[in-house]
Amino acid sequence: MRIQDVRATTVTVPLEAPLRHANGCHWGRFVRTIVEVETDNGLIGLGEMGGGGESAEAVFRSMKSYLVGHDPARLEEMRFKIANPTASLYNNRTQVAAALEFACLDILGQAWGVPVSEILGGRVRDSVRFATYSFFRYPDSRSGQGEVRTIDQVIRYIADTKERFGFTTHKIKGGVFPPDYELEVYRAVAAAFPQDSLRFDPNAVWSTGQAIRFGQAIEGLRNDYLEDPVFGLDGMRRTRQMVRVPLATNTVVVDFEQLATNALAPAVDVILLDTTFWGGIRPCIKAAGICETFRLDVAVHSSGELGIQLATMLHLGAVLPYLSFAADAHYHHLKDDIVEGGLLPYRGGAIRVPEGPGLGVRLNRDKLAEYHELYLRLGNYPYDQDPGRPGWVPLVPNDRWADPEDDHPVKIPW
Ligand SMILES: [Mg+2]
Repeated sequence: MRIQDVRATTVTVPLEAPLRHANGCHWGRFVRTIVEVETDNGLIGLGEMGGGGESAEAVFRSMKSYLVGHDPARLEEMRFKIANPTASLYNNRTQVAAALEFACLDILGQAWGVPVSEILGGRVRDSVRFATYSFFRYPDSRSGQGEVRTIDQVIRYIADTKERFGFTTHKIKGGVFPPDYELEVYRAVAAAFPQDSLRFDPNAVWSTGQAIRFGQAIEGLRNDYLEDPVFGLDGMRRTRQMVRVPLATNTVVVDFEQLATNALAPAVDVILLDTTFWGGIRPCIKAAGICETFRLDVAVHSSGELGIQLATMLHLGAVLPYLSFAADAHYHHLKDDIVEGGLLPYRGGAIRVPEGPGLGVRLNRDKLAEYHELYLRLGNYPYDQDPGRPGWVPLVPNDRWADPEDDHPVKIPW
C-alpha cells in the first residue's frame, strides 16, 4: 500500500459565540484545514490541523512531493522525512506531521479493519470524560446571544452546559480581565457547584507574583489544577514552591526535551497532551509513558477541534491507563461538524470512543463543501487580536486587561 495523493481543504465552522482568551479571540468561528491522504488501493485517511485562524492548505500541498509512494505504515520513517528535529530550525513541521500521522493511522485502521485505539495498544475505556470549557465570550454578532462576561453569566453558562452535556468538571479560561475579577469569578463558580471539580487557565499571562497570589487564594477549593498561570518553566517552578495546588501546562512542556527537564527539576505536575502540539497521537502516548514512570499526571488537551481531531483525542484517551482527569474540548462551542452524522454526542459528560475502523469518523462532503465556501467568503481571522479592542496588544506578563464592565457591541463581519 502506497500513498498516492495528499489533499487539503480549509473550512470555517461557526461557533455559538466568539471566544475571548489572553492573546485575543476566536472570532465566532474556527478555521481548520482538513487533510485527506489517499492510497493506491483507494483508501482515504483523514487528518486535521488548525490554530491561529489561518489556512494551512499550501503546506499540505507541498508535502505531496515527500509522500507520494510512501508506505503509510512507515510512520517513524515519515516523521524523519518531514519533521526531522535537526532540520526544524528551518521548517518546523511538527503540527503538519501530526495531521499526516492521524491520516496514516486512519488508513491503517481501515486496511486492517480495526479502530486506531486497537493499533495503539488497545482501549482501556470505551468513553472519555470531558470538562466544561467556559470562555468569556462576546455575544454572537448576528443573534446578539451567547455573551459570557459577568459572574452571573459564567454561572449560567456552566449550569447550562452541565445540564446539556452532563459535565462535572469545569474549566474556566481566563487571562482576559484583571486577575482579581477572575478570582472572584472562580470563587463564585466553586460556591455554585460545590460537588464539581474546577480548573483555571489564564494562558500564562500573569507575572510570577500574580500566579502565586491567585494560586494561594484558591487553595482549599476542589481544584484539579491551575493551568499555566505564568510563562516559562522557572516561573512555574517558583509558583509551585509557594502554592499548594497542582500546576498543569500545555505551554512549557510540549516536547520530550522539556519533559526531561521537568522530570529532572519538577516545575509542573500535570502534562496536558495535545495530539497536534506533540506531533501526533503516538508521541502523546510515548510522553504519557514517561509521565507514568515519574508519576506525573496527564490529561488530554484541546487546541480547538472538529470531529477528526476530536477522534484523535478520543483514541488517545481510550488507551492511556494513567489518565487522571477529564479531557478538555472546545467541541461543545461548535454549531456543526464536517463528519458524517454531525456533532458527536456527549452522554453523562463523556463521548464514546468511535468503534468503526480507523479513526471511526468519515467526511460529510456536503458539509466540507459548505464550510469551505464559508471560509472562501470570510477568510482568515487574527487569533491574536481582539475584535472588541482594535490595536490592542497584550504583554507577557500582561497588564492591558479588558474591562469587565465594558459591554459595548462588537461587530464581527459575517
Ligand atoms: Mg492551556
